[in-house]
Amino acid sequence: MTKSSILWGMVFALLATSPLYADGHEVNVYSYRQPELVKPLFDAFTQETGIEVNVAFLNKGMIERLEAEGDRSPADLVMTVDISRLQALVDASATQPVKSKILEEAIAPEFRSPDGSWYALTLRARVVYASKERVPDGEVTTYEDLADAKWKGRICTRSGTHPYNLALFSAVIARYGEEVATDWLTGVRDNLARKPQGNDRAQVKAVWAGECDISLGNTYYMGKMLEDDEQQQWANSVRIIFPRFVDGGTHMNVSGVAMTKAAPNKENALRLMEFLASPQAQQIYAEINYEYPVDPSVPRSELVASWGSPKADSVSLSEISALRPTALKLVQEVDYDR
Ligand code: FE
Repeated sequence: MTKSSILWGMVFALLATSPLYADGHEVNVYSYRQPELVKPLFDAFTQETGIEVNVAFLNKGMIERLEAEGDRSPADLVMTVDISRLQALVDASATQPVKSKILEEAIAPEFRSPDGSWYALTLRARVVYASKERVPDGEVTTYEDLADAKWKGRICTRSGTHPYNLALFSAVIARYGEEVATDWLTGVRDNLARKPQGNDRAQVKAVWAGECDISLGNTYYMGKMLEDDEQQQWANSVRIIFPRFVDGGTHMNVSGVAMTKAAPNKENALRLMEFLASPQAQQIYAEINYEYPVDPSVPRSELVASWGSPKADSVSLSEISALRPTALKLVQEVDYDR
């Protein structure tokens, strides 16, 4: 290679990474969501628009990566579950607000940030998985009830510090304040059958194995377990109960999308966001991951519909994400994972 071709190579590399010279036919996504789920969505998008979607699947460190890359980040969109993770990206100034009539029409105001910094794409309820054998109908109907001594040694959950639990605990704090929430969390902790461990599915396995009678989990795991040869029997040993707050509804969390601050392919990124909110994509979410479409006009999958119809709680997502640090503090104070 000659000196000048090396030089030209460097110039080209610079141009290629500069936002001004972004490729017109691609969009880049950093995703905490799994390949099996997002791949069919992106394939459908590419088929419709001809725009290629490049995805980096991350397990952690998305904010740090975006911060390190700064203005030169190739990422256009970020996708993740959990409201606090979406909010953390916004708080780190890693996102930019997006205005879109299409998104505003498809997604209700409570499921997007007021300035368009993030948009929810799917909803998931945090519910009780109850042993068909050992928990009669009507024995558990509210979240408040989980602290009742009648559940002593009968509840299994994953770690109290997991985002799914922190969001639920934040909803308790939002409703009742810190003091009452501490008592409630202490009560739930005292009712645990074992030290918190494993994921949501592992709790259902423990119910199946007779270690506990009820567990906390997100709705879609029922569908996921039914797809799996080994886990099917765990799923079949339980039924889903939608607890509600005494004066409210069932706690729902979200998965969502945000545009990065540096987005080099802004136009394509917006098109992909709008596609993800479209009935076609919402249907894919509903069928493949058993989530609730954020657009209520899109039908739930037949299986999800068979579990019943939760009424979403009224505590707002922004309140829930704001209370996350308090929830984490309470989990540590009561030594939930002891
Ligand atoms: Fe999950």
